[in-house]
Amino acid sequence: MENRYALPPYKIKMIEPIHQTTHEEREKRLAEAGYNVFQLRSDDVFIDLLTDSGTGAMSHFQWGALMIGDESYAGSASYFRLEAVVKRITGYNYVMPAHQGRGAEQVVIPEMIAHHGMVFISNTHFDTTRAHVEIAGARAVDTAIDACFDTAHYHPFKGNFDLAKLEREILAHGRENVAGIIVTVTNNAVGGQPVSMENIRAVRAMAIKYGIKTVIDGARYAENAYFIKIREAGYRDVPIRTIAREMFDNADVLLMSSKKDGLVNIGGLIAIKDDAELFRRCQTRIVPMEGFPTYGGLAGRDMDALAVGLGEALEEDYLRYRIDEVRYLGDRLLAAGVPIQVPTGGHAVFVDCGKLCPQIPFDQFPALAVTNALYLEGGVRAVEIGSLLLGRNPDTGKNSRAELELMRLTIPRRTYTFQHLDYVADCLVAVANRAGALKGLTFTYESPVLRHFTSRFKPL
Ligand SMILES: *Cc1c(COP(=O)(O)O)cnc(C)c1O
Repeated sequence: MENRYALPPYKIKMIEPIHQTTHEEREKRLAEAGYNVFQLRSDDVFIDLLTDSGTGAMSHFQWGALMIGDESYAGSASYFRLEAVVKRITGYNYVMPAHQGRGAEQVVIPEMIAHHGMVFISNTHFDTTRAHVEIAGARAVDTAIDACFDTAHYHPFKGNFDLAKLEREILAHGRENVAGIIVTVTNNAVGGQPVSMENIRAVRAMAIKYGIKTVIDGARYAENAYFIKIREAGYRDVPIRTIAREMFDNADVLLMSSKKDGLVNIGGLIAIKDDAELFRRCQTRIVPMEGFPTYGGLAGRDMDALAVGLGEALEEDYLRYRIDEVRYLGDRLLAAGVPIQVPTGGHAVFVDCGKLCPQIPFDQFPALAVTNALYLEGGVRAVEIGSLLLGRNPDTGKNSRAELELMRLTIPRRTYTFQHLDYVADCLVAVANRAGALKGLTFTYESPVLRHFTSRFKPL
């Protein structure tokens, strides 16, 4: 029998209890948290859709692999097992672990900047990637297609680069001032939206034309490969590993948060195709930042769990279920008329709260109002991705207005069932039905940096 949505290609062997709270308790907890769900204790959350980063479930093969971890400081056998797996997937010559994605960024990005006044150009920089570019004294320029900002408009590869914008930026800055082109797959910031192979190839051709290095920010490269398989002409019968390999063939460097498509709770990766000189410099820099090059901030057992997880994340039946889970939640919301980013991406459903709550001005944070209402409704924790996250303009001190006021419902890997997602949809539909009456929020304390994590609010 054909199922409309894929079945989970695994069964449950170990469980972790979760508990529902009462509405009264949630009112109290949310007030104590300063109306900021980042300040809640996870015990007070029933379904936690804050992030898909490091929150997935490991397989029994991964738990088994932990037992053979080699904790040697240098030359660990676990490192060599991980290195072999990464070389086989990417075809790259040089591999170093890092403690997570931002660890890989802090080692590689400064080494790619040759002089003052350089820029990186991306489809969209992820926040920590942008931060490391700026800390290293360069600037981050985004050139995603305009379609990604129109949530109701269907486009199969909303994560794509706008190639004309990309070329304009290269010419405007001068190719000698472009430190690298960063291909973020999937494009997290705009909804986990994939980048097509055609677009990746065109970006690569342009990078070669101007003599610029290409970096893949590959936290969700396996999910991106799966979208290429199901949405791009000519890939339906191509194995996922072959598609992934073609993505890597079109770049020089991989930076990866392994907390996503590595299927581990902590870990990151650096892989470099053939630039031995860049690798040597990164080996020098990684020691004081992350640790010795054969452990990079990870325990030996973490490297073994990652070596296994990287392979599992490329299995097609796993990916089919993973992507269908996200699509299922999106379909439930669409059927009830809740405005979301379409099509759904790889790791999350993004709800367009600007459309849900037109009565709330951007600087009273419509997506935060919906996030809080959803927590009160059913103990579901989502996250604001809008003007609160964006922060203030450093020159004027005024609140910047985000292109979109989104609430992200992020699905951890192999963690929740369709019943949990039904419950999330039911709660959100109830909130959406009274969204026109929701009120905005104002700061009682605003933290100066990354304000969304620690600021406190009161409802207006
Ligand atoms: C998560 C993420 C990072 C940073 O990785 P961490 O493991 O959280 O440090 C970088 N880029 C993208 C696209 C990500 O999703």
